[in-house]
Amino acid sequence: MKHFDVAIIGSGPSGASTAFYLAKKGISTVLVEKETLPRYKTCGGGFVYRGRKSLPFKIDEIVEREFRTVDVYLGSKMHFKTHRERPTITMVMRDAFDNLIVEKAKELGVTILEDTKLKSLDFTEKFIKLNTSQDQLTAKFVIAADGALSPTAKMADWTNDTRKLIPALEYEVEVSDEDFERLSKEVRFDMDAIPYGYGWSFPKKNHLSIGIASARRTKINLKEYYKKYLDTLQIKHIIKEQQHGFQIPVSPRTDGFVKNNVFLIGDAAGFADPVTAEGISNAILSGKLAAEAIIESQLNPEKAADLYFEKLNECILPEIKTGLWLSKFFYEQRKIRNLLLKKYGQRFSEAMADVFMGDRTYPHDIKKKITSKIKELVF
Ligand SMILES: Cc1cc2nc3c(=O)[nH]c(=O)nc-3n(C[C@H](O)[C@H](O)[C@H](O)COP(=O)(O)OP(=O)(O)OC[C@H]3O[C@@H](n4cnc5c(N)ncnc54)[C@H](O)[C@@H]3O)c2cc1C
Repeated sequence: MKHFDVAIIGSGPSGASTAFYLAKKGISTVLVEKETLPRYKTCGGGFVYRGRKSLPFKIDEIVEREFRTVDVYLGSKMHFKTHRERPTITMVMRDAFDNLIVEKAKELGVTILEDTKLKSLDFTEKFIKLNTSQDQLTAKFVIAADGALSPTAKMADWTNDTRKLIPALEYEVEVSDEDFERLSKEVRFDMDAIPYGYGWSFPKKNHLSIGIASARRTKINLKEYYKKYLDTLQIKHIIKEQQHGFQIPVSPRTDGFVKNNVFLIGDAAGFADPVTAEGISNAILSGKLAAEAIIESQLNPEKAADLYFEKLNECILPEIKTGLWLSKFFYEQRKIRNLLLKKYGQRFSEAMADVFMGDRTYPHDIKKKITSKIKELVF
């Protein structure tokens, strides 16, 4: 039975980047992935610059398109445009993107086990035994990087799911040359394309990734709103489309991120942005923080758990907490939000572009700031 210091379950951006950072410091690491790589992942594939600039290698070879200008629409009445010198959003296909990070980790010596599904975990005094669809392994640490469903978290005693999971539907769409010519020029978000949510059109090299997500955990006919959204985009003819539905966890677990030497990162932990549901950059960041915690602790489980929590508290958790408040206000208080956007919409869009660029986070006193702007409008 092979033994590793760290076994990572899932080769998405969170798992692959943790593997990369651990292997860089010579820590023996195995990446366990149930699919054959590269694998498709349901995702808009909009990678914001704060994530891109944090990567320690270039991703140019897998970039589909880059957008320095971002368009945000609110019905036909409001339209805001932001422009930055560097690409605010880079378009990627997740099979190629995730696989690039896996390859970088492999170059540093990470063992990659694809077509290998984690089935169960046995906790012994010395290490954790992993029973997979192929071989058995042992490891000192297990990282659950296995996405929104996170079977690993369930195996490691997270019996209740305390994350907020929102529904999203995404289509890979081939349209006519005429429509593609028109729509491939802009990356756009359409607020309220779906109640309590938004729609997006993300142009890839030869097709569009079009989707809708609702910030409410509710039963909703996503397909119906997707069709309406195609009308908004004035798409006349669809040559081919592939539907993919999934959930996005937009609030962190409330019952801890480490149990029995199992660390949760990325979607397994619930680290996607509550306002935009953008999850790739925090998946990568949380993977890096978990790796740093293990490295700095010199493989001491208690120290590593404390360090990981400290690091999360420094950069991810406060931002998500503010984002949760902002998301509730933005999607649920639409009348007052629209009044504010009429006056401050461009300023708000610029602030969001700064968040995407990694130049700022959501202000901690956002509630106070928004309340005072509302008072200015009303009185
Ligand atoms: C419709 C939709 C659109 C989105 N659009 C965007 C976007 O445009 N931009 C953005 O930033 N984010 C977007 N997101 C969110 C983003 O996709 C996730 O936040 C991100 O993929 C999380 O990365 P991860 O590494 O935590 O998990 P994942 O990328 O989900 O990777 C988990 C991996 O674990 C593997 N796995 C699962 N179970 C097991 C097992 N038992 N054994 C072995 N392996 C296993 C899976 O096969 C998978 O490869 C979107 C999400 C959805 C659903």
